[in-house]
Amino acid sequence: MSLRFEISKTGGPARKGKLATPHGEIETPVFMPVGTAATVKGVSQDLLEQLGVQILLGNTYHLYLRPGIDQVRQLGGLHCFMSWPRAILTDSGGFQVFSLSDLRKLTEDGVTFRSHLDGSSHFLSPETAIEAQIGLGADIIMAFDECTEYPAEASRVRDSMEMTLRWAARSKKYFHEHKHEVSWNLDGATAVHARRDKSAVPSNAEHRSAGRVGAPAPTCSQENTQALFGIVQGGMDHALRKESAERTIEIGFDGYAIGGLSVGEPRSLTREIVESTIEHLPKDRPRYLMGVGTPEEIVEYSNLGIDMMDCVLPTRAARHGLLFTSEGKISIKQARYAGDQNPLDPSCSCQVCVRYSRAYLRHLYASNEVLAQVLNTIHNLSYYLDTMRRVRHSI
Ligand SMILES: [Zn+2]
Repeated sequence: MSLRFEISKTGGPARKGKLATPHGEIETPVFMPVGTAATVKGVSQDLLEQLGVQILLGNTYHLYLRPGIDQVRQLGGLHCFMSWPRAILTDSGGFQVFSLSDLRKLTEDGVTFRSHLDGSSHFLSPETAIEAQIGLGADIIMAFDECTEYPAEASRVRDSMEMTLRWAARSKKYFHEHKHEVSWNLDGATAVHARRDKSAVPSNAEHRSAGRVGAPAPTCSQENTQALFGIVQGGMDHALRKESAERTIEIGFDGYAIGGLSVGEPRSLTREIVESTIEHLPKDRPRYLMGVGTPEEIVEYSNLGIDMMDCVLPTRAARHGLLFTSEGKISIKQARYAGDQNPLDPSCSCQVCVRYSRAYLRHLYASNEVLAQVLNTIHNLSYYLDTMRRVRHSI
């Protein structure tokens, strides 16, 4: 195993633990902000470090199309390219191919699709998706799967699940044959620090401690390779979810994700499927619930025993002026905030809430200022990260 996972405390089904990756340790349960195109939109990497982000999610589909996997690989991998010393997880690209691209053609072999950027034709398969993720060099990478749509006929859900299982086996085979080709196994991780040392002398203790986190984790004594997670599918069918979990575990992965949820089904059903799927996952491996959720949901799923989650919601909502606070959601565009001198969230100690008023944030948003997106994103990410800190503390 290239990933060490230790559970230090449990509270009912909830688990508090530590995940040691080649690029630092992650406290779980953890929320992973989405950095689609090698950036969490609107927020620089030094700020993400200050906010306490321990792991970012990158989207293989977007990076594959632009700037291209070979380009990133030649620049030392994703950590080095974007100067992010901490952990990264990449998805397999499958979900985005299914949701963003045109003219898909799906076969047993893989999926042919046209780029949403320029219409060019591409092919992703279990092998090419893992090859791309080895090229990007994230600490945790994902097997190539098919996210079954909702609703779907029973036979369609089974066929899709069966193909995901065959793709899982092919993903694992390719990974084991090629995992030593990861760029930071050569010099990527050190290159981040070399550039940092030359360009910026840290000016305070926080920065110095942030810099150290980027060094390979001393607790990660195994050889430094990436970790591969398998993905459980099976639609909204409890029996198929059980079967998918058992057969994915048989193939054997470093961690297990629950995919195919938050695809339009009612929330109560999502929760039911998560709860029943968790029962079939190994206790000693990290569990990753893909694509959730609201602040309430990330608390709820942590309490059910999920260790990792990601979602575009805090960052995307921020760019649309929708802010999560301890007093509920605030739509900062509303005229009622035009003269409101209160902080956005009186209980939040983020740099935005400490410094700026609702009136100012409302003005920035109404004026379409770039700073509106930056400040709104900083607050929403702080709110999510604080929520997870409280969850970990409560376990
Ligand atoms: Zn705040």
